Amino acid sequence: MKNMPLTDKVAIVTGSSRGIGRRIALRLAAEGAAVVINYTGNQAAAAETLAAVEAAGARGVIVQADVSRGAECEKLVKAALANFGRVDILVNNAGITRDNILARMKAEEWQAVIDTNLTGAFYCTQAVIRPLLKQKSGGRIINIASVVGLLGAAGQTNYAAAKAGLVGFTKALARELAGRQITVNAVAPGYIDTEMTAVLPEEVKTAIKRQIPLGRTGSPEDVAHVVAFLASPRAAYITGQVIAVDGGLTMH
Ligand code: NDP
Repeated sequence: MKNMPLTDKVAIVTGSSRGIGRRIALRLAAEGAAVVINYTGNQAAAAETLAAVEAAGARGVIVQADVSRGAECEKLVKAALANFGRVDILVNNAGITRDNILARMKAEEWQAVIDTNLTGAFYCTQAVIRPLLKQKSGGRIINIASVVGLLGAAGQTNYAAAKAGLVGFTKALARELAGRQITVNAVAPGYIDTEMTAVLPEEVKTAIKRQIPLGRTGSPEDVAHVVAFLASPRAAYITGQVIAVDGGLTMH
């Protein structure tokens, strides 16, 4: 894996057993990075991601860790250091939905989404900062937000709050770490075909598709390309940004 954009780099991708996270792990591996693959429950899927990473000629390791728990995020970062000796890139991708209109939303539904989608990024990022600073060679933190955090969506107040929170987190942290050449950016996917969106009723999917200027839903690969760019040396002068990958759904 010599002379690739991410040769000798080590990346942690949270929630990379399936969906967008898996595709990000594979893209970073294809560009030369060693990858720490993370999951909570789906071990068989994580094993498939690892097999694909290795088939791409890259090194990988699987670490089970629930990102909503601080000690498990510490474990995740320690595993990166133990297996590969360093860490350069953190992609905070793990996420869940617990949709409900606010009038009916249970406190547990609110809390589970905030804990995983927002506090998980806090724990993982905090765990990775110390080794990043110690290495003195810059770094990349990439948060997977959502267009829902920018536009809102009925039935997703918990998810929108967590994703909008990630956007603020990204900008504040970008300012904190810029002096150390650690960039912090967010990617805000629109409607991407994964298990998360497969559960939506057909009529909702059709209505969403009608609103997308590019006329199609996105693939995990569409998101992974942008993450790989942000992780690469070519994106060294980009920090504190939110890049929508949504077929033109949001235009600011
Ligand atoms: P999937 O449901 O397909 O995959 C979710 C991944 O997150 C799985 O690998 C899952 O692991 C992991 N995960 C869930 N909870 C935890 C946890 N507590 N700790 C560690 N890992 C966890 O989702 P997507 O691939 O669709 O979504 C990935 C990210 O992209 C999420 O942050 C989501 O909010 C965001 N996004 C998705 C969009 C879409 O249209 N799909 C649009 C905008 C944003 P396991 O396999 O063990 O369950």
